[in-house]
Amino acid sequence: MFDYHIHPNYSIDAEGEVEDFCKAALKAGLKEIAFTTHLDTDRVAEDCFVNVKGKRVDIASSVWFEDYESTIRAAGDQYKDRGLQVLLGVEVDCFPGVLEALPEGFFSTEFDFIIGSVHLIDHIAISANGRAEEAFRKYSLDELGKKYYSILLDSIDLEIFDVLAHIDLYRRYGEGFYGDAIHDLWKPHLKELSKKMRSKRVGFEVNTSSLRRGMQQPMPEERIIRALNDEGIKTVTVGSDAHMPSDIGKGIEVALEMIRNSGFEGPSSYRKRKSTVVPWSEFNTEKQK
Ligand SMILES: [Zn+2]
Ligand SMILES: [Zn+2]
Repeated sequence: MFDYHIHPNYSIDAEGEVEDFCKAALKAGLKEIAFTTHLDTDRVAEDCFVNVKGKRVDIASSVWFEDYESTIRAAGDQYKDRGLQVLLGVEVDCFPGVLEALPEGFFSTEFDFIIGSVHLIDHIAISANGRAEEAFRKYSLDELGKKYYSILLDSIDLEIFDVLAHIDLYRRYGEGFYGDAIHDLWKPHLKELSKKMRSKRVGFEVNTSSLRRGMQQPMPEERIIRALNDEGIKTVTVGSDAHMPSDIGKGIEVALEMIRNSGFEGPSSYRKRKSTVVPWSEFNTEKQK
């Protein structure tokens, strides 16, 4: 099993050292994990920090990239022989202007895997309780869909990431605000989205954090996973979005089952930003062991 979305305590909203997550991953029976610290660079949204050895460091500082890379690579060396692959990744917060805001360290670091995420609408985090409504109040449901998916489409054009994260994140707080109709928000946008994903060779992730928040479905929900497969998208990763070691691997089996039932040949694995589909047969052998 894989978990390709993990926040160690470099992320200011996460707890647990890289080492703690590796130990938890082994315990959960995972074979491959990718650390994906938040790379938030929207100065208006004011979350542009990471923690490095207990100190808050500006995201633009080159120091943290070096520290982060060497810590993850050291963990990789240490855990490889114990059957755990540890990958260096990052979760880039995408917003209009992100390309200019990304620090030089982003481009000079040799990542295995990069997630692109849209958390912000008009600099407001729609993933944050109490803040999301601030953004929602400005838009009708239809307008929200247009706004959100246009940011996603523009982000893909930047060609800076491998998979799109949680592409229906607006459901987390949007369901309470807009009602059940929010579940169909993706429909008018899916064709254009998948066309762009195919042309730019961008995949998507199935994010299981929603299952820990009492939601019925991962992000995106099963109908979207299926629709993306129907549209010829082949690259999909799975991630718990763990912000503490005990979250690692949670819901991954459910997500894999959904991906399998939706017709995918397997989840993708990454090395130095090159993806490979890992066939289901490899997961069967894993189960029999
Ligand atoms: Zn995210
Ligand atoms: Zn995340």
